[in-house]
Amino acid sequence: MRIVALAGGIGGARFLRGLRELTGPQDEITVIGNTGDDIHLFGLKVCPDLDTVMYTLGGGIHEEQGWGRADETWSVKEELKAYGVGPEWFGLGDRDFATHIVRTQMLGAGYPLSAVTEALCDRWQPGVRLLPMTDDRVETHVKITDESGPRVVHFQEYWVKLHAAVAAEAIVPVGAETAKPAPGVLEAIAAADVILLPPSNPVVSIGTILAVPGIRQAVSDAAAPVVGLSPIIGGAPVRGMADKVLAAVGVEATAEAVALHYGSGLLDGWLVDTADAEAVAAVEAAGISCRAIPLLMTDVPATAEMARAALELAEQVRS
Ligand code: GDP
Ligand code: CA
Repeated sequence: MRIVALAGGIGGARFLRGLRELTGPQDEITVIGNTGDDIHLFGLKVCPDLDTVMYTLGGGIHEEQGWGRADETWSVKEELKAYGVGPEWFGLGDRDFATHIVRTQMLGAGYPLSAVTEALCDRWQPGVRLLPMTDDRVETHVKITDESGPRVVHFQEYWVKLHAAVAAEAIVPVGAETAKPAPGVLEAIAAADVILLPPSNPVVSIGTILAVPGIRQAVSDAAAPVVGLSPIIGGAPVRGMADKVLAAVGVEATAEAVALHYGSGLLDGWLVDTADAEAVAAVEAAGISCRAIPLLMTDVPATAEMARAALELAEQVRS
């Protein structure tokens, strides 16, 4: 089976680990990763979502944290601090720095991000084909108003430094409108047997991928069923602050509202948690097949069970 998944960072990566557990060597998983979270720091190109997927599937992730490397040390960060060079709020450990150095060096030599990602994955062997959504520069910015007045900050500054404590007034994927899908992205979507939207952030992860011209159209035109899993359980994100960016696009933080936000033009099937079973009827009334199952990714077997339910729902909507 050819499976395509659109993925952000932690939610996407954890789901993919369950999906990979469930599938076998005869299956082909292509992951289209969000690069709207990318940031340039200390002269280096950092791709947090691609790296989270790569480290998680490659066995190098810091498990409890969900991002960054296991057994990390922080000497470079301390040395930068001693020079008074920031920002201090973004955690880059020594091991992680090596990834960004290799990436930046290859980009500087002229390789596109897709080729660089493939080279990094040669080491990590994630067991999926990991494609950035685009080789072009896209960076999500967030419009806020705080004591310094109205201003626009990089998504990472909003998320990591400000902890999304002020309201997001608008989410702007800068550069998206002129970006082109990376090589292989549209082809993988068109050739897919099933397309999955993991429980990733609907606005700044999956929404950004869909904002690259051509990708949303390719997903809705695809012959394959499209099935998503809700990142919202019981009216709140399981982890993180997705409610803040949903509010910026006028969407309530409920499993039902997120399904309707994607819409029946994009989604054929939607999984909600058993806590949200009362949302099933409304989602189905909107023309999207819906089931309620446990959606907490507590461990790999529980996550594999979620992936199994998603593939089963895809089969049901196909026939
Ligand atoms: P990020 O880029 O690291 O923020 O990760 P993603 O965009 O891939 O995923 C973030 C989303 O994952 C958040 O909105 C969480 O609510 C969701 N999430 C995290 N853990 C779980 C879980 O166990 N179950 C479900 N259903 N969603 C989860
Ligand atoms: Ca992210």
